[in-house]
Amino acid sequence: MRYGTILRALLLLSRAAFAQELTIPARVRAAAQRITAEQLKRDLHYLSSDALRGRDTPSPGFDSAAAYIARRLSRAGVKPLGDAGTYFQHYTLRETVVDTAEAYLEIAGRRFRFGTDFLVRTYPRPVTATTTLVYVGHGMRVPARGIDPYAGLDVRGKLLLAHGPSALPVGLSSDLLGRRDLDYFTPWAEAHRRGAVGVLFLPPSQQLGQWERLRSRGRSSFELEPPVPSAYAAIPTPSIAVKPHVLDALLAERGVTGNELVARGDSSRYLASFELPEAVTLHLPASTNLEHRPYNVVAFVEGSDPVLKQEFVTIASHLDGAVGRAVVDGDSVYNAADDNATGSAGTLAIAEALARSPRPRRSILFLWDSGEERGLWGTRRFVGKPVVPLDRIVAHINVDMIGGAKRPGTNVPGEEDLTGPDEVHLIGPRVLSAELDSLLERANRSYLQLRLNRTYDTVASEFFYPRTDAGPFLERGVPTIGFFTGLHPRYHAPADEARYLDPQKMTAITRTVFVSVWLLANAPDRPRLDKGIPDAVPRYR
Ligand SMILES: [Zn+2]
Repeated sequence: MRYGTILRALLLLSRAAFAQELTIPARVRAAAQRITAEQLKRDLHYLSSDALRGRDTPSPGFDSAAAYIARRLSRAGVKPLGDAGTYFQHYTLRETVVDTAEAYLEIAGRRFRFGTDFLVRTYPRPVTATTTLVYVGHGMRVPARGIDPYAGLDVRGKLLLAHGPSALPVGLSSDLLGRRDLDYFTPWAEAHRRGAVGVLFLPPSQQLGQWERLRSRGRSSFELEPPVPSAYAAIPTPSIAVKPHVLDALLAERGVTGNELVARGDSSRYLASFELPEAVTLHLPASTNLEHRPYNVVAFVEGSDPVLKQEFVTIASHLDGAVGRAVVDGDSVYNAADDNATGSAGTLAIAEALARSPRPRRSILFLWDSGEERGLWGTRRFVGKPVVPLDRIVAHINVDMIGGAKRPGTNVPGEEDLTGPDEVHLIGPRVLSAELDSLLERANRSYLQLRLNRTYDTVASEFFYPRTDAGPFLERGVPTIGFFTGLHPRYHAPADEARYLDPQKMTAITRTVFVSVWLLANAPDRPRLDKGIPDAVPRYR
């Protein structure tokens, strides 16, 4: 045989081995069976309890949750991988706060002030600019419907003036818009893409009536220090909400008042886009620079193979929750149970199960990250200053929301996306690698046989790109797989509570993730990325 033929034969053999290694060893199966619904339910209830108040980053509730996870890891003998031999990996976050006393908007020789005339809604950085305003109506671009208020306009270096912040094109409701940044683009995103300085919003009358309530929002911004760029972070466009009288002098040449423009916005009768010729000055200096030190929880179980233990499978669940301010039906606590006490509890159970099962060849790294809901802080920190080289991560598993289940035969509005009691959304493997995909399929087939829903396993999916914690890994070339049970009406609301979730389903998914990860970590070869990371995914190296 020629050398090339021998090599090919060897390669085929090792590929065959990859396929055969999928039998789940009895002791691994036994460890999976010891992941119980009782334990998961206890952890879910504790992490999402009112006492922890949704585990915002940073907060005492987050600290309690992190200490709880660390205690359990220590008891199970799962090794710490954080700072100085601890489970905690700190990072620096810079908070920039707008100087409301010094801030002004100057129009036609008159200075308008923060509070009485305008409010800051998003403040990514200090701004000082003298430029013109371009009115863009609702400001939303929806290519498939031919909606583009920016057509023929050059807004570079200028300020956008739009109704909003959530005005919709006439005849479109939010459920008809499709996926953000894929099917439709907000004024913030358009301003950023087109190099505009920022956005002035003219709120609808109903929001003008709640002016005082909006006062304290959006006045500061947070960024990692040093910064870790990510296409998945919040859009860095400054925006302010203005009262209608502020615009009167400017709009006079169009024969319309600020109030008339608000009335048009209220009834979706937007004017066609136009530029106002007179220059305005927006001055939003910063008053304070605060430093915060949030942290992730990081741990690992070392692989059994002297060489392959240098490679890793990583599993992450964000430990923080989205904490809002609105009180809904008298409830002000955003428990963040499904999103993501479920994933956090599941990943903890997997770490504990691994500690009492035979070790696979590769090492497994566990990450309970912080600040996911605030801008993927924890995972951006992780990839920006990795504790293991990123090219040694064979695959990254994202476990985010695994407790929701649609009851069979029900048709609750807002639950269309929710999976059934024995079903889970799988995000990523089909797009990235046939081998990875087949490994997961076969692991599942030879074990609990969940229904693997592939709705979001496409490159165009908002859950593949650009919405979750998997993003910072994916854009740096690490293949990612997400387990997710689907959105529901309680998502990011005070009602995201443990009592609506299904511990039996959580158990089945957690066990499935455990055996899949074990097999992946134990496979003789790392799965080939035959499909590669799609071109649509930005890469930072
Ligand atoms: Zn989440």
